[in-house]
Amino acid sequence: MTATESAANWRSAAACLSADPDLFFPISNTGPAERQIARAKTICAGCGVRRECLEFALSHDQVYGIWGGTTPEDRQRDRRRKRRAAAAAAAAAAAAAGPKRAASSGQPKRAVPV
Ligand code: SF4
Repeated sequence: MTATESAANWRSAAACLSADPDLFFPISNTGPAERQIARAKTICAGCGVRRECLEFALSHDQVYGIWGGTTPEDRQRDRRRKRRAAAAAAAAAAAAAGPKRAASSGQPKRAVPV
């Protein structure tokens, strides 16, 4: 199965196939759009391909619309949280490696001719 066929397969099982597409692409996130978003998320909550839909949106940097039950703001918050977690993990790894680096940093990097 090709990637295109795989993408077509999950789309054919989407719970939103018969829903109003405007629900999934509100023009704002306030006022009447809040009700649209809530309705779209309710449809997504019962969708059997929610995970595939969200993975598609994340891998294609979808900046508009409801995908996998998430708004663009939800996805942006998630990306920020993952970046912070990755930075914290990198900082923790660097701190853990610190004593080794400190011990080796006192050594000459290469032999100096006498
Ligand atoms: S998760 Fe929501 S937007 Fe994605 S296919 Fe299902 S119903 Fe449609």
